[in-house]
Amino acid sequence: MALSVLLEAVLAAFEAPVVGLEIDRSMVTILGLITIVILIALSGFFSSSEIAMFNLPKHRIEGMVEEGVDRAELVETLKSDPHRLLVTILVGNNLVNIAMSSIATALLGLYFESGLTPVLLSTFGVTAIVLLFGESVPKSYAVENTESWSLSVSRPLKVTEYVLYPLIIVFDYLTRQVNRLIGSSGAIESPYVTRDEIQEMIESGEREGVLEEDEHEMLQRIFRFNNTIVKEVMTPRLDMTAVPKDASIDEAIETCIQSGHARIPVYEGSLDNVMGVVHIRDLVRDLNYGETNDGDLELADLIQPTLHVPESKNVDELLTEMRENRMHMAIVIDEFGTTEGLVTMEDMVEEIIGEILEGGEEQPIEEIDERTVLVRGEVNIEDVNEALEIDLPEGEEFETIAGFIFNRAGRLVEEGEEITYDGVRITVEDVENTRIMMARLTKLEQEHVEEVPDADVVEAGEPTDNDVEPGDVTDSTVE
Ligand code: ADP
Repeated sequence: MALSVLLEAVLAAFEAPVVGLEIDRSMVTILGLITIVILIALSGFFSSSEIAMFNLPKHRIEGMVEEGVDRAELVETLKSDPHRLLVTILVGNNLVNIAMSSIATALLGLYFESGLTPVLLSTFGVTAIVLLFGESVPKSYAVENTESWSLSVSRPLKVTEYVLYPLIIVFDYLTRQVNRLIGSSGAIESPYVTRDEIQEMIESGEREGVLEEDEHEMLQRIFRFNNTIVKEVMTPRLDMTAVPKDASIDEAIETCIQSGHARIPVYEGSLDNVMGVVHIRDLVRDLNYGETNDGDLELADLIQPTLHVPESKNVDELLTEMRENRMHMAIVIDEFGTTEGLVTMEDMVEEIIGEILEGGEEQPIEEIDERTVLVRGEVNIEDVNEALEIDLPEGEEFETIAGFIFNRAGRLVEEGEEITYDGVRITVEDVENTRIMMARLTKLEQEHVEEVPDADVVEAGEPTDNDVEPGDVTDSTVE
């Protein structure tokens, strides 16, 4: 109201005859300047409101409402229609900025004869003032005080919405129509946080020391978890310890003890026909305390059902399924129904919390020096890439480092053979029968990388001295 009175006074003063009325001119100037100052303040209010309201994350508003913070509900109501809110702020901001420019031009017109000078002066002067006091300073303040400032401006914004109601209705409608015409959805706010943003935040969180290194790693693993399939975490068929259905309970206990596993699958005929799983606890309990002590208790009586899952199943789904069914072990089958391996809860949990090593278990990846690691054949390519910061292909038809070597060689390999791929030398260290048990990976120095053709396999018997310089290996590879 006070503003409109001032505006009227300024306009009335302009209409008064100027000649000889010095008092009137200075009065007009003073009133005009006061109006401009008020308009700058309003401009700052609208600009800072825009930043505060649209930078305030949705979860913070919900949090404040839950905590019963004063005016938080009003902020929530305003934000429930972001398009209307933006139009309110923009209409308000543009009105005050343009009014400021017009008044400044008219005021300067009192002092300059030529029509161009006041226009130029007011254009540049008002631009500078608006930029500084109507935009930059208030916006910086709002960025730093998003929460408290959005609460403070909520009531004035609501009042503005009432005062400018007719204009806002018209511009709300018009902007929506124009948006539709140019094919824009007009969405002012995207989902307030995306998966990628969270991942980027985790990255920068670690860089800036907000997150510890192991917290960062665990969070990263959680994100990777839902892209992991069972094949990547299972224990392969070759390592499965199982007993045939017709084994005795004593034999089954013996197998458990020797293998160090508490659960073992029981099969009929071959591993491709797993009937279920026995737990050492049941075997021992029934052997010692069972009701049927007359010796006719069979292994088959103690078999618990198990799940058969395809190797391509996602681990997060399987983990939920196993928890619901209270099962700790599942049998992994391939597309032909052949048993590929087994997977336990531990295999999946390890994907999030990292390797859980028991007793004499060795590290799957052993760091020799900065450029060299010793890796067990069944280790996933992804883990090797991470350990050595290299870029071996992931997500192809092989999961493990052994799979990669076989794929590159196109045949069985022997101890001592070497592959060079994309600046990484892979030496087969240990082979049992046909299986690659251990490989040594060395990151070659850049100058040698350029000379090395991609993925050459060197026959066994060629120089494999692990201490030789990468350059020597390059020679032998090229030969
Ligand atoms: P356990 O403690 O009985 O060995 P866990 O569930 O803790 O069982 O699994 C530890 C690791 O041993 C996992 O990698 C799992 O795949 C593997 N494992 C468990 N049972 C067997 C089994 N019968 N044969 C081969 N590997 C197994």
